[in-house]
Amino acid sequence: MSETPTYIGFETYTEHIPPSIPAAVQQATGRFVGGRAARVAELPHFEQLRQIASDIRLHTIENLDFYLERLAEQVTAAGGHVHWAATAEDARQIVLDLARRHNVHLVVKSKSMATEEIALNHALEAAGIEALETDLGEYIIQLAGTGPSHIIVPAVHLTKEEIAAIFSEKLGIEAPADPVELTRIARQVLREKFLRAEMGISGANFLVAETGTLVMVTNEGNGRMCTTLPDLHVAVVGIDKVIPDWDSLTVFLKLLARSATGQKLSTYTQFITGPRRAESEFGPREFHLVLLDNGRSNVLRDPLGRQVFKCIRCGACANVCPVYKNVGGFAYGWFISGPIGAIFAPQMLGTPVARELPYASTLCGACAEVCPVKIPIPAILRHLRRRVAEGDSLAPATMPAPIRAVAKLSAFALAQHWIYRLGARILPLVMSIFRRGDWIPSAPYPLSRWTKARPLPPFTAGFRQWWQKRKTGL
Ligand code: SF4
Repeated sequence: MSETPTYIGFETYTEHIPPSIPAAVQQATGRFVGGRAARVAELPHFEQLRQIASDIRLHTIENLDFYLERLAEQVTAAGGHVHWAATAEDARQIVLDLARRHNVHLVVKSKSMATEEIALNHALEAAGIEALETDLGEYIIQLAGTGPSHIIVPAVHLTKEEIAAIFSEKLGIEAPADPVELTRIARQVLREKFLRAEMGISGANFLVAETGTLVMVTNEGNGRMCTTLPDLHVAVVGIDKVIPDWDSLTVFLKLLARSATGQKLSTYTQFITGPRRAESEFGPREFHLVLLDNGRSNVLRDPLGRQVFKCIRCGACANVCPVYKNVGGFAYGWFISGPIGAIFAPQMLGTPVARELPYASTLCGACAEVCPVKIPIPAILRHLRRRVAEGDSLAPATMPAPIRAVAKLSAFALAQHWIYRLGARILPLVMSIFRRGDWIPSAPYPLSRWTKARPLPPFTAGFRQWWQKRKTGL
């Protein structure tokens, strides 16, 4: 069973990290970065596509009420049922009520970040309903009892040897460290569950308002099995996933797989409009769409921050992020990791809860350069850092008062020529008390927050001379 995706925070993350993370993550993300570059080079108008995609997403976010109403009308017209879930608890209750009404004992799930967000597996299992992840990566982490560490490759942190050990322990077999054989074992277990399950649960990559169509982009075919074999299909999807029409969809489909895995198109692109038709033998008899808000409406009030909802969850930003590649996904403390997690979690959970995440970036800008929908991630990170430090209409300041005072004083002093020069003489004297060789290994509060993790280089009085030389080139 996967872990509840409650926020664990930066300071506790080390307990969750297996030792192999950097090597496994760097290998996989390196492959994706290379694949993306090759596919992008094949499309001369890639930059124009990015701009169009960004414009469409922004337009949709700014007119979300209109497109959501249109979507709901079309889903209903196609014979589906629409449920509005204001909170995670509402969404869980809707799914549980449906499961009880249909006497469901076994649920098969295709990969869905929205159900991670609401910890649906826990709710189902607490109600005595078996919930089985069927995407291979999700199945592995469900067996391992952890959450995902990458948006599109949830088990990216595990080597084949570690996966074999998990299979052996949890399934009671001798599993070899061979990816083909491991996939065969998983397929064997899952196929039998697909045939027995009474309910299939999915997410969606996009919701097309024009026709009420749910679009799923996958590589394994499990999504198709989950949404066609059981008699009941429930999709849990964030309200931000709506797009206006099929013309828009063609733009996103060109960008998504190229940015995510370096494919021209994913193996399966599935379109679901309502339940099975009267004349058809296949497909679910009932289709329910649960539209999840869970704090999104609040984030929409922020004109810059709401651009987070342009995201199409390709994971490209994580693949190029020097921070993500060195600490792995669990360090972000929530189910969405990488640069997108660093701007998503603090807005959804609030900066008082996830105040470290806006700082989990070097602000190098690599994420914004590859983002297919041009989310200004570094600008949003700086915006959120300001919220942490100074507070705004959406959240109070969470930076401790002494640090805020020191920052304000420093800003004032750095802007005054004479204070800066005086400080440049006094500070090295004060710091010499704590200096050991070329470093300051421990300093008093608030600098101790830094020296707890790494030594501090001593303040150097020669900065002005260095800057002068740099400016004049002498
Ligand atoms: S922020 Fe951009 S690059 Fe990152 S996952 Fe979302 S769409 Fe992809």
